[in-house]
Amino acid sequence: MEKESAVLLIFTGGTISMSEDPATGALRPIDFEKVQEYLPELKQTGIRIKSIPFIPFIDSSDVQPENWKQIAYIIRKNYDNYDGFVVLHGTDTMAYTASALSFMLENLSKPVIFTGAQLPIGMMRSDAKENLLTSVEIATAKENGKAIVPEVCIFFEDTLFRGNRTTKKNAEHFNAFNSYNYPPLAKAGVHIKYFRSYIHYPEQGAQLYVRTEVNPNIAILKLFPGITEQTVNAILNIKDLKAVVLESFGAGNAPRRIWFFNALKNATNRGIIIVNKTQCSTGSVEMGRYETSINLVNAGLISAYDCTTEAIVTKLMYLLGENESVDIIKHKLSISLCGEMTVS
Ligand code: ASP
Repeated sequence: MEKESAVLLIFTGGTISMSEDPATGALRPIDFEKVQEYLPELKQTGIRIKSIPFIPFIDSSDVQPENWKQIAYIIRKNYDNYDGFVVLHGTDTMAYTASALSFMLENLSKPVIFTGAQLPIGMMRSDAKENLLTSVEIATAKENGKAIVPEVCIFFEDTLFRGNRTTKKNAEHFNAFNSYNYPPLAKAGVHIKYFRSYIHYPEQGAQLYVRTEVNPNIAILKLFPGITEQTVNAILNIKDLKAVVLESFGAGNAPRRIWFFNALKNATNRGIIIVNKTQCSTGSVEMGRYETSINLVNAGLISAYDCTTEAIVTKLMYLLGENESVDIIKHKLSISLCGEMTVS
């Protein structure tokens, strides 16, 4: 007889688990028992499902690296007892948490599927049930006894994305996420169609290794025409700063002002790692293609290629948490650790 499939639901919160506060009209988390009442279908799946709720549920705008660790610990503790994991999470920072978990869960061989909803589960037109039930199906999908998608993913509306390639793109529509620089891993219609050539499979026999140390001493410096020397210097001189994501223009370009070059060079000389990430959603940084990026190479910046902001921020926090030398961190930034970027 085939072994019954088993999924662990990790309920962190988000709109999926909220209802309107009668006094203020604002959405706020409800409790776990109430959420379960809306989901009788879970009992009919034939899958053994257990849930672990965060107490209390949290809006994902309140999620902190501590919560990423909490999810990683739950997965590590329960890893052998389930075929897959579904993380119910608010959409606002879901792409950050999914990216962080993709780095933390090394050699993952089971699906970890993040999902949520744009409308609370109790509302008539809510997208919660479909998102959750399809995620459960994906989390248990196997071929020849092996998980079809052994990755940290986000499933939303009808598409499965690699988590560390995903960005929240819409605050209103049901298709809230996109992966601009990597194709979807699956599409759900009448059947779920998996695009296997895009899915990452771990080395056979490799054991899950969970690393949860993170260092949040990083900053994002987003360029705009007219940005002042004072603003740039204020950011680059933050106490204990270890790394900066410079959000540049187009293919990784920036103003050629000498004060700007000096500020960047001075920071990299002090051991601050600066990563050049384009403000564009699609495409890659190509330093040296335009004159306006040659200074950035000379100032010691490294390319984020086609990484999302969510992936590069969490990758930096994770690498800095390892307490390795700046050279090793720079090397690891220049390669893809778990499919988060395409090095061109
Ligand atoms: N503010 C909510 C959250 O991220 C939004 C959502 O879940 O869609 O928790």
